[in-house]
Amino acid sequence: MPKAAICNAIGEPLEVRDIDLAPPQSGEVRVRLGASGVCHSDLSIQNGTLLVPTPVVLGHEGAGVVEETGDGVENLKPGDHVVISWVPQCGECYFCEHGQGELCETGNVSMATNGLLDGTYRFSRDGQDLGQMAASGTFAEETVVPAISAVKIDDEVPLKAAALIGCGVLTGFGAATNTADIKQGDTVAVVGCGGVGLNVIQGARYAGAERVIAIDMLPFKLDLAEQFGATDIVNAGDGDAVTKVMEMTGQRGADVAFEVIGLGPTIEQTINMTRRGGQAILVGVPKMEVMVNIPAFFGVVLQEKTIKGCWYGSSQVHTDVPKLTRLYEEGHLKLDELISREIKLDDVNDAFRAMENGEVARSVILYN
Ligand SMILES: [Zn+2]
Ligand SMILES: [Zn+2]
Repeated sequence: MPKAAICNAIGEPLEVRDIDLAPPQSGEVRVRLGASGVCHSDLSIQNGTLLVPTPVVLGHEGAGVVEETGDGVENLKPGDHVVISWVPQCGECYFCEHGQGELCETGNVSMATNGLLDGTYRFSRDGQDLGQMAASGTFAEETVVPAISAVKIDDEVPLKAAALIGCGVLTGFGAATNTADIKQGDTVAVVGCGGVGLNVIQGARYAGAERVIAIDMLPFKLDLAEQFGATDIVNAGDGDAVTKVMEMTGQRGADVAFEVIGLGPTIEQTINMTRRGGQAILVGVPKMEVMVNIPAFFGVVLQEKTIKGCWYGSSQVHTDVPKLTRLYEEGHLKLDELISREIKLDDVNDAFRAMENGEVARSVILYN
């Protein structure tokens, strides 16, 4: 009987209690979690920004150890250490075959239903089915996930560092190294320096950016941004961020600008601080009703700007996760520095409040 954190309804605190877990079915594995990051998207389900069916076990940024495999699972065995991907990538559909596994047809179904790939559930409570966020459900001591969601990693990588790869690092580092086309010597602007934004910053430096302008309203996040490779800091509370970026770039704008918050006004700012011919990459998850207003001629056509959405850092998880763990082991990727607080599953509601108050980049739940 694993303990898990359940979102029963929008706006209610998560309920932490023991639940039932059915064994893995064909093509599935049972994973004992070692750690799970608390990501803004978990909070976004609890507060209604992201609409999914409830009740649901939240958590989608985890790493753990395979305990049991269902029929037909050949690539994993008990004892394997894995990072859980919140987009199961089948490797066979149109998108996977075109190098866009983040848009996998199979994977995106589980995101809408909160079930496993066959539409059924493994978590239950008093006989009632419980969903699991994005076929993951990492706010639980144990979970059952599709085998294609579990990516094997070296045993030497600490699980609390590996967990962060599952969402924030794949998304942020991937936005800079996969979604965007950053050239050696580029100037990059990053609007929003939370857990994902910090990874955009370190990804941009890794991709060759010479200058990275970090923009946020919270001094502690701007300090972290410098640790992660930002060369210039703009406190958006001290005046218009677009004006600042234009001043810093000889009125040209950034070669590549990233929005990592998900608000209409900051999306527009990000597009406006992108230079003519540059790229604006939209990473933050906005509320469903957010619309963006950009003058089509003066803002886009005449300026030949590229405005590109970014889902899961355009990551091909089966190759990108091993690549990222290797970069960590070689000292090219900061993971431990992302962790603001180590907590217990029982403290998950406090972690949500700390995130809302802008006190943390990442809280990480450690399981025993
Ligand atoms: Zn996330
Ligand atoms: Zn696919």
